[in-house]
Amino acid sequence: MQTSHPGGLYLLFATEMWERFSYYGNRALLALFMLSALSFDKQFTAALYGQYTGLVFLTPLIGGYIADRFWGNRRSIMVGGGLMAAGQYCLFASGSFYTQLDIAIPFFYLGLGLIILGNGLFKPNISTLVGQLYAPQDKRKDAAYTIFYMGINLGSFFAPLICGTLGDTGDPADFRWGFFTAGTGMLIAMLVFGYFQKKYLVDPLGNQIGMAPEARTKAQTQRRNAPLTRVDYDRMLVIGVISFFVIFFWAAFEQAGVSLTFFANENLDRELFGWTVPTSWFQALNPIFVLVFAPIFAQFWVKLAKKDLEPASPTKMGLGLLLLSAGFLIIALGVKQVAPGIKLSMMWLIAMYWLHSMGELCLSPIGLSLVNKLSPAKFASLLMGVWFLSTAAANWFAGILAGFYPETGKPTPNFLGWPIATLNDFFMLFVIMSFVAGALLLLSTKLLQQRMHGVN
Ligand code: GLN
Repeated sequence: MQTSHPGGLYLLFATEMWERFSYYGNRALLALFMLSALSFDKQFTAALYGQYTGLVFLTPLIGGYIADRFWGNRRSIMVGGGLMAAGQYCLFASGSFYTQLDIAIPFFYLGLGLIILGNGLFKPNISTLVGQLYAPQDKRKDAAYTIFYMGINLGSFFAPLICGTLGDTGDPADFRWGFFTAGTGMLIAMLVFGYFQKKYLVDPLGNQIGMAPEARTKAQTQRRNAPLTRVDYDRMLVIGVISFFVIFFWAAFEQAGVSLTFFANENLDRELFGWTVPTSWFQALNPIFVLVFAPIFAQFWVKLAKKDLEPASPTKMGLGLLLLSAGFLIIALGVKQVAPGIKLSMMWLIAMYWLHSMGELCLSPIGLSLVNKLSPAKFASLLMGVWFLSTAAANWFAGILAGFYPETGKPTPNFLGWPIATLNDFFMLFVIMSFVAGALLLLSTKLLQQRMHGVN
């Protein structure tokens, strides 16, 4: 079995790295910008932030459909990239006029709208292209998506450091430079992609991939026009079921930005040699862990495949959910030590993020790969949109769940008849939720495999 990867993978890696740099660079500043430059209140900021991060993952459904039917992946990526860059520059304009809210606010909403639309065209299509570089059932796909995932995390690691440092200086006039840099990152992604696409975006036979309908080869068109069979319907059903389970993963995982940040802020001993580690720095742990461990996972899957020992994709994903549950269990146990005047050692949170990142590596790149392997050619990008739909639902659900975070002096919230009186209760909610989802997924693997018809 061949273990090296085609050049196209590295092109997609670089493009997605710059696009995610742009997206996460913006996201690192967004809430702060709303609060300190646009003078929105906390509640409104939180609500808008939640709607934005949810909508960003809803539009891939439309972007996937447009690519499959009309534009192909390449054009959709370029148009989506252009819209996102324009959106970032609208935010740059908004930040430039922050003292005149009647100008700043329309630019702000226009900018967010463009990013939402642009991401819809970009994200599912770049993700679909990764798999098209290989023959349909090539065993290297899981490893390829894991390497691609490193690109995502390389971008999301540097983004807050660079855009955050330039934009969040304490002077609201500087936010615009963060957005400007994010927009420029997006332009770099488009330049790289536009320049190298012809050379590197080819299938194993050398045919160009991601083309619009009129430029597809005869075989490609035939494959896309083939009527759907029972097998296709079965496989699409599996995509639906898996996407459902994944909602619980992201809803718990995304607590990183909300409840886990409150927790780190209030109950974690962040003193290190007389210096206090900023709460926001804990957000860097996840991309670092993914970057360090992704190559190990990629090799590990290929090694297991060579020995015919590779677990089925739903098994890997179920394992991902269990790892997430284990991470929350660590923190649920840790918080028992928290008492008035006693804070928890950082090691607990670091261990939790490590487990969460290992879980993510078992679930997220594997899920992208599985969707690619299961999709009939006709709907390859649309179904990638379905996969991202679960992230949209999860972001919304994550916000609701974070609302159960117990606060002293406030009435005890009640989750399905279960009082959430302590932090331990709150984190146990996620332990149980992800454990049940993971266990159910593991138990249904055999059933799902029957409907996958040979796809692993
Ligand atoms: N962090 C990853 C990304 O931005 C995962 C997104 C997701 O599917 N929830 O691509």
